[in-house]
Amino acid sequence: MAGNWKMYKTPAETRAFFEAFRPLVAGAKHCEIVICPPFPDLAAAVEGASGANIQVGAQNLYWAKEGAFTGEVSGPMIHATGATHVIIGHSERRQFFGETDETVLKKTVAALEAGLSPIVCVGELLEHRESGKTEAVLCGQCGKGITGLDPQQFAKIVIAYEPVWAIGTGKTATPEIAADAHRIIRREMRARYGNEAARNLRILYGGSVKPDNAKTLMAQEEINGVLVGGASLDAASFAKIVNYLS
Ligand code: PEP
Repeated sequence: MAGNWKMYKTPAETRAFFEAFRPLVAGAKHCEIVICPPFPDLAAAVEGASGANIQVGAQNLYWAKEGAFTGEVSGPMIHATGATHVIIGHSERRQFFGETDETVLKKTVAALEAGLSPIVCVGELLEHRESGKTEAVLCGQCGKGITGLDPQQFAKIVIAYEPVWAIGTGKTATPEIAADAHRIIRREMRARYGNEAARNLRILYGGSVKPDNAKTLMAQEEINGVLVGGASLDAASFAKIVNYLS
């Protein structure tokens, strides 16, 4: 269960979140919990999560280890904060910052080399879905953005299916729509990496996940977890999603 805070919260707000959130999820043994705050909050988040069943991730990285790349942050730098994960290729990165399947692959390899677990995002636009291109788009993103990984690298990634029309819009994909897309992604990965690797792959659903729809989404066998934006900013609301079984 991963939370993407996007560009929200200061270090002080991050500390307050963890103080409220920790006790609410202390009993959660059924899942891994990852919070992905903005870069300036990573240290506060790692401190807030220390000793708890919560891990911390970044929302982006650059593929070089260091160098003259003003404004960028590398995998080793993120790893040195104590963070363990990084989101790669979020649709907002693709839409506003020119990320492509090619840069997604480079960033994923760089994250793995730095010892980080990549959460690689794919997903179609509304116009793709309405024109029957969802499958082609997902296969294209998986093909160029992921299948260049070797099997050892692939075994360490998590994929997040995030239909762009469902992100921040309040329009959740139905559990069936999400499960269908997950099946397409898993099928592509089976073709490249084989049965066992595809079975072991964790695919998260993201797009307007809220406390009141988490349970029905998670009831789908194909959905192995969720990537939550807006509803992860509030400790009580994200805790309800994490504790969707109770
Ligand atoms: C996201 O940012 O990855 C996301 C899914 O956002 P939201 O939950 O707000 O739709």
